[in-house]
Amino acid sequence: MSRKVLVVGEIKDGHLRNVTFEALTAGRRMADGGPLIAALFGSDAESYAEELSKYGAEQLYAISGAGANPTNEYCTEALSQLIQEIHPDAVLMGHTSSGRDIAPRLAERMGVGLISDCIGLEVAGEDVFFTRAVYSGKAFQVKTFRSGTICATLRPNNVDVSEAPAQTAAAVFYPDVKDLKVLVKDIVRKTSSGVDLSEAKIIVAGGRGVKSAEGFEPLRELADVLGAAVGASRAACDSGFCNYALQIGQTGKVVTPDLYIACGISGAIQHLAGMSNSKVIVAINKDREAPIFKIADYSIVGDLFEVVPMLTEAFKQTLI
Ligand code: FAD
Repeated sequence: MSRKVLVVGEIKDGHLRNVTFEALTAGRRMADGGPLIAALFGSDAESYAEELSKYGAEQLYAISGAGANPTNEYCTEALSQLIQEIHPDAVLMGHTSSGRDIAPRLAERMGVGLISDCIGLEVAGEDVFFTRAVYSGKAFQVKTFRSGTICATLRPNNVDVSEAPAQTAAAVFYPDVKDLKVLVKDIVRKTSSGVDLSEAKIIVAGGRGVKSAEGFEPLRELADVLGAAVGASRAACDSGFCNYALQIGQTGKVVTPDLYIACGISGAIQHLAGMSNSKVIVAINKDREAPIFKIADYSIVGDLFEVVPMLTEAFKQTLI
């Protein structure tokens, strides 16, 4: 059954975020031959038409009116005007900090349901199955959608991206948005790493066992060699070793990298809630009874200050 699907893409630091391609890949599945349309915010949104076309977007609505950093309030208003014009059957976007904010507002305006934080989207006949992780990743819930209109957000790193070139025509959309209460003048990042934690393929995370802010240095060196992002447990953040922007877990970021290296992290349930769906987990802990070893694919019992530099050296020799 073909559907009209609108994918809301995201630009970060001058690049389309990978979750945009994941949403287009999932959207193509859902469109099932129907029109796949992209919307993108930013002063140069039009220039991404060709890149989006490689993943099946047949049309791009470039919304540039609010400049490089539109507020979520602006995006919600602009998207609801676009939706009234094109009437999609589904709206998909990344479960990113902005997607999490925009999608519920949009669903409410559209008067439709929202399926948030999906880790899978499959189509069988007329049905679309959205999978979500529940109970901190201990169980999975499958929601079925057949007809009407739906809004959904997709957790980054959960859809294998595939290309399907289409001819994309870029149209500039001019929403009429008034009375904005907030204007973003500049964005100052708290983390120095270039790799976005929520989309990273490899994460090196440190816990209280790292012992100090300086203790994170060997982790950063390992991350640099691997092209990884650095993450942390809440205890590490609470202790002032690193910024809260790095926190992974129930009250931090939920991540799904290909490789998660946990250093000096005990494996509390609240931490596991943010990383237990990682594809491969390596845990380094000097306590052989640490709960993190129950979910680790590779367990290294040892002092992280000895093990991490050894790993860095070994990877340097094989990767550089
Ligand atoms: P610890 O539990 O203290 O573990 C430190 C580990 O380091 C130990 O296992 C120790 O053996 C090991 N270690 C020490 N020195 C070394 C060394 N030299 N080499 C190797 N290993 C070493 N936590 C989160 O992480 N994320 C969340 O989002 C989160 N949300 C929460 C929400 C609520 C409502 C509550 C109540 C708690 C939350 N927590 C969260 C906190 C959570 O319960 C744990 O307290 C926290 O995850 C523990 O962090 P940790 O593993 O770094 O520290």
